[in-house]
Amino acid sequence: PQDNFIEGIRREFPLLNQLVDDKPLIYFDNAATTQKPNTVIATVEDYYRSANANVHRASHALSAIATSRFEQARQTIADYLNAPSPKQIIWTRGTTEAINLVANSFGQSFQPGDQIIVSEQEHHANIVPWQLLAERSGAVIKVIPVQENGELDQAVFKQLLNERTKLVAITHVSNALGTINPVKQMISQAHDFGAKVLIDGAQALPHFQVDVQELDADFYVFSGHKIYAPTGIGVLYGKESLLESMPPWQAGGEMIEKVSFSGTTFNRLPFKFEAGTPNIAGALGLAEAVRWLIKQPFDLISQHEKALFDSALDACSSLKGFRRIGCPEKHVSLLSFTIEQFHQQDIGLLLDKQGIAIRTGHHCAMPLMHALGLNGTSRASFAFYNTLDEVGQFATALEQLISPISIPVKAAIHQDKTG
Ligand code: PMP
Repeated sequence: PQDNFIEGIRREFPLLNQLVDDKPLIYFDNAATTQKPNTVIATVEDYYRSANANVHRASHALSAIATSRFEQARQTIADYLNAPSPKQIIWTRGTTEAINLVANSFGQSFQPGDQIIVSEQEHHANIVPWQLLAERSGAVIKVIPVQENGELDQAVFKQLLNERTKLVAITHVSNALGTINPVKQMISQAHDFGAKVLIDGAQALPHFQVDVQELDADFYVFSGHKIYAPTGIGVLYGKESLLESMPPWQAGGEMIEKVSFSGTTFNRLPFKFEAGTPNIAGALGLAEAVRWLIKQPFDLISQHEKALFDSALDACSSLKGFRRIGCPEKHVSLLSFTIEQFHQQDIGLLLDKQGIAIRTGHHCAMPLMHALGLNGTSRASFAFYNTLDEVGQFATALEQLISPISIPVKAAIHQDKTG
């Protein structure tokens, strides 16, 4: 029944059914972005075909339809995250913009000597906005180290927390290793010191549902494109009192209540943070992706994702020089690895020749790679539309790659150069 189920799911993703260099595409780059099901594509198309108008402004019928669908989409996301109110769902372009919004708005009150705690696991999107804020405000960044096994050092985290800690910004799931962090416990520990916590959920929502109230997160951010929705749309969830107290960030239409040259007053939540015409089609696409996800049998999906990971690790572990990077437990279906003697770029290129798409390099997490003493990894990130057969082909391709007769591409190039 599992096979039938996955075959059925695959038929809903038109892009999966294509050839790369005459070989069927094997798409293992889901942590970078996921493919889109027909229903999401149809929702975006239908919006442009039948309901396109600007939202909230005009008093005409089409605008009313667009506005109603747009606000319904916000409600869908609020329900999915168990946010108390749709007012607490701010549309952004993605995770990156959501973090920048918090850094530029919530961060405005930061004083010299205030502390921001991030971790060594972070994506650059959850590091650089805080560095810019630290430069502007005189705040200081403290870093939770990652242990060799890919987990955050919780003892150091506890030592770093103190009354000057204004914000803890950590990822729920590492995009480079797949580690799931114990964020609920970390949020509670941060709250004991009065610190607020932002959770980067970009790699969590693709694998499990999140209840922002249960976590007690102050801010929770994610990108639509990693959960089967279009690019250019994402979400900032925030506690209402915090969002109310924060100044606007970007300014323009929609975020104002009244504008005059003697002064401007700002719109209420969530519009205060949504200057300019939003990505309406993207928001509808994201809501549709969520409606579609809710209908899928969650148990079957997580079992299948686990089976993909286990079988990939099992098949690869016996390969000469193969080393998995990441913690043994508490991880999503993402396999980060190195193969001795092979540069990741070569692994990526050679797999690409077999139609297999993976990601190689530092995964926008240079401090993490540095901490682990690596210059990068190869990353196969699975989604539930992937099959065990694809995993088998991936393992076979790696085996061929490292068999004695094959010469690594880089080595071949060097040999050419040296004569
Ligand atoms: N954080 C994490 C953990 C991510 O994996 C990513 C995307 N790779 C981002 C932030 C940035 O997301 P986006 O580019 O969609 O803004």
